[in-house]
Amino acid sequence: MKQMIKDMYKQMGISEEVFAFCEEILDSLAERFAEIDKTAEYNQMKVVKAMQDNKVSEACLLGTTGYGYNDMGRETLEAVYASIFHAEDALVRPQITCGTHALALALMSNLRPGDELLSPVGKPYDTLEEVIGIRPSKGSLREYGITYSQVDLLEDGSFDYENIKKAMNEKTKLVTIQRSKGYQTRPTLSVTRIGELISFIKGIKPDVICMVDNCYGEFVECMEPTDVGADMVVGSLIKNPGGGLAPIGGYIAGKKECVENAAFRLTSPGLGKEVGASLGVLKDFYQGLFLAPTVTAGALKGAIFAANIYEKLGFRVVPNSTETRHDIIQAVEFGKPEGVIAFCKGIQAAAPVDSFVTPEPWDMPGYDSPVIMAAGAFVAGSSIELSADGPIKPPYAVYFQGGLTYEHAKFGIMKTLQEVVNAGIAAL
Ligand SMILES: *Cc1c(COP(=O)(O)O)cnc(C)c1O
Repeated sequence: MKQMIKDMYKQMGISEEVFAFCEEILDSLAERFAEIDKTAEYNQMKVVKAMQDNKVSEACLLGTTGYGYNDMGRETLEAVYASIFHAEDALVRPQITCGTHALALALMSNLRPGDELLSPVGKPYDTLEEVIGIRPSKGSLREYGITYSQVDLLEDGSFDYENIKKAMNEKTKLVTIQRSKGYQTRPTLSVTRIGELISFIKGIKPDVICMVDNCYGEFVECMEPTDVGADMVVGSLIKNPGGGLAPIGGYIAGKKECVENAAFRLTSPGLGKEVGASLGVLKDFYQGLFLAPTVTAGALKGAIFAANIYEKLGFRVVPNSTETRHDIIQAVEFGKPEGVIAFCKGIQAAAPVDSFVTPEPWDMPGYDSPVIMAAGAFVAGSSIELSADGPIKPPYAVYFQGGLTYEHAKFGIMKTLQEVVNAGIAAL
């Protein structure tokens, strides 16, 4: 069997040296992978239980058209999400176009003119800068008279409690906490740490709304931020919770009032959750959610595998090879553009779709340097599928995530190593 697999990798362009190097690293990861499998097992039961408790039936998999009144499948799915997150209610819709939209919706619907938004964990994800109005933008919160304040993390990554307390005032209405590091180098927040921060904030102002940007964090741990006091969690269905099958969508789960506000903003005052046809996507939403715990586990194993390979070769990796994981993103710093480009070529060459395409750096709107992206996905732009990207600027880091199966994530990383070795950027 081992020989058969080796031969197959050879046919797929993996040399014997790369294969042997990877196998040796994998031997050392068995214990960590077993731990990830335990988390997936727990979360798989959590999802199945939520589906059973809410009596998901065959009829739920069908969709509605037009107004979408009495859409049983949609309403049941929202109840399933609420159960999984131990929340009062949820909004899960194909009309929410992406993660940024879900976050913008949660913010715009729960804030009013004169309110202040606080980020106690530093700068939020790039696309939120325009939502908030940090960078001037049409329709931003700022245009509606909603102010913003930010407290950065301390040098060592810990919360700056003193300045968070100072930043909170009578106007502070909503606190946004980003779980994942996104494209920064700070550590990702564990659910436990998020809970500590929320306790501190509620201790100062009990009625402030605590929202967590949960992108890339779903099902990585057994707990979610709503289990430790978050009033709202928000995310994208073309990341973890869509399990690779959801073709579009976003969710907001949390306090009934918060979710209701979001629904009235998404559709219309007076209509709220009552309208919004689910069209034909419900089966994929349900099935993707069902698969999400194991898909997330596969992606996590791929990230840990990559960290161990590239750390051993002398590159800086964030998180490092032994750290516990709280999201599925892996950064590798190559220190030169050729490394980022070779890595992305490897990911592209491993894709099931568009594997014959060669990714090149290009100038993208909103970025101040050329960016290279690799993805050959079934769902365009889906980053729960094997994907990588990196801005061509120091420290020349590439960000890697996803893989619908562990086997595919593994192959993708092996391809990156092959490209990196072929380009003479590292020697085994
Ligand atoms: C992906 C992401 C977003 C935005 O989601 P899009 O679907 O790309 O709009 C926001 N926050 C974080 C932390 C993310 O990872």
